[in-house]
Amino acid sequence: MPAELLDGVAVARTIRDEVARDVLVQKARGVIPGLAVVLVGEDAASSVYVRNKGRACEEAGMHSVTIRMPVTTTQGELLAVVDQLNADPAIHGMLVQMPLPVQCNADEVIRRIDPAKDVDGFHPINAGKLIIGEKDGFAPCTPAGVMELLRRYEVKTAGADVVIIGRSNIVGKPMASLLIQPGIDATVTICHSRTRDLITHTRRADILIAAIGRAKFVTADMVKPGATVIDVGINRVDEPRAKNGYVLAGDVDFTTVSEVAGKITPVPGGVGPLTIAMLLRSTLVAASRVVVA
Ligand code: NDP
Repeated sequence: MPAELLDGVAVARTIRDEVARDVLVQKARGVIPGLAVVLVGEDAASSVYVRNKGRACEEAGMHSVTIRMPVTTTQGELLAVVDQLNADPAIHGMLVQMPLPVQCNADEVIRRIDPAKDVDGFHPINAGKLIIGEKDGFAPCTPAGVMELLRRYEVKTAGADVVIIGRSNIVGKPMASLLIQPGIDATVTICHSRTRDLITHTRRADILIAAIGRAKFVTADMVKPGATVIDVGINRVDEPRAKNGYVLAGDVDFTTVSEVAGKITPVPGGVGPLTIAMLLRSTLVAASRVVVA
């Protein structure tokens, strides 16, 4: 029997509606939640993401600022913009779109962002808070979105064996941190390119999360029948017949895996839309923490 689809578009819509409602509560106390996005250079995919973030903000009734900087921007110029946004009371959340041009040091930029405005959750202070379970930080938006998907589809996490393929700081590691929190209570295994005999891990997963960056990497034989499969991957695959010359594919071979899995996210329309929804929510949370005199 084909797997149940976990509809990220619908869940993201619900979250964005909730955020828009709560923005009104903030406005009533005189705070207009504001998000600033800094884009350095003209990477096509990044430009699309940034435009979508701006539109989503405005639709939710938030204040949105996009700062576009040339590809020749120096580290000093970028840090100066971050400082300016740190000091701007109209901005509650900010992010610097990655990747940055080679002359810029992403780690230094991330560390310069005020942790209270770091709605991407990449600052070491927020990463640390996530690990120790302090609730006043920010979790990275993509794994936070996966948690919302699991929660709203009532996927049981307590005692579940969760296997994550990928150990990046933006997906794999924070995903594991969220899943082992008390109250979520999953048992987590993180796999990576040096994992021996990957399939023995993936085949015992009640929940399998793929964040690898390789199209259709997870095949049906790697999945336990009935498992929940979450596909974080977004990969461009050449397709001459497509309008842009490519199509988007996840890290999971959806056609075959959906015949084995119990629940599965599609790509596109799964985890992707949740990332922006969670960014809006984190910005709202940042604004709600502002004390009004
Ligand atoms: P990274 O490249 O930072 O990490 C990929 C991970 O996959 C690494 O830990 C790597 O292992 C592991 N890996 C690579 N090859 C294998 C293999 N053969 N077997 C097992 N593990 C392997 O990617 P990200 O975490 O940034 O992103 C992962 C995917 O998610 C990408 O497709 C990206 O586009 C997508 N993404 C989607 C988002 C969304 O909004 N939906 C947001 C962020 C990312 P090692 O560490 O050993 O190299």
